[in-house]
Amino acid sequence: MNRFIKRLMAGTLLLWFAVCPAHAWFDETHVAIAKAAGYPKWFNAAAADVARLKLGRIEGYNHFVNNRRGTVVTPDMVLAQAARYDTQNPTGHLYGAIIASLRNYRADRSAGRYAELHMAYASHYIGDLSMPLHNTVFNAFNRKHHMANDGIINDEVLENFDQIKIYPITLQSEQDLAREVARIANLSMRLGYILEDERRLMTRTEAYQQIGHSASLLKAVWSYARKKQ
Ligand SMILES: [Zn+2]
Repeated sequence: MNRFIKRLMAGTLLLWFAVCPAHAWFDETHVAIAKAAGYPKWFNAAAADVARLKLGRIEGYNHFVNNRRGTVVTPDMVLAQAARYDTQNPTGHLYGAIIASLRNYRADRSAGRYAELHMAYASHYIGDLSMPLHNTVFNAFNRKHHMANDGIINDEVLENFDQIKIYPITLQSEQDLAREVARIANLSMRLGYILEDERRLMTRTEAYQQIGHSASLLKAVWSYARKKQ
């Protein structure tokens, strides 16, 4: 490969890391969310990050939303983002990625195709939804503290399922799903800006509370998405 192309690729990669969150919850945390939710293919919950490593922006922008302070995420905003799934809109479109990956799951399932890999993506995005710094602007604070927050309970989470509290969520329609995604997005964003104001990391209690939202939603999604349409 010639030197110019190599340099161009290195530059592009650097730019990518400069504008986008480097990670999400780390792998064990994603897997724990999926296991706690009762998702049988919990072992696929970190796969979207594996894909992201090589796909870069095409996948990466599905993992976060840069919400400015004061934003109120509405169900309509969540649904409107679905059209941006797998595009390179730098604001990010995590909420739309949840909607779109589940649409793909349901469409492939009802057409009799193997649909489980779409659910693998959805399970991951639902995990990212509760990571506060995936819902706030990727500013200097976010950049500096992102990785530490991603890993805050990672080393212990697989031994502490009892700390992941599941609560009932009922989904009858995509509108219900959008409402729940918006609700958790607003909670996560609010915590993200509290962390920024207080210049601190999440506590362990906050981290378990957050992933409890993801696990509860994934549990509801797993039952909703398999209903006959
Ligand atoms: Zn992610």
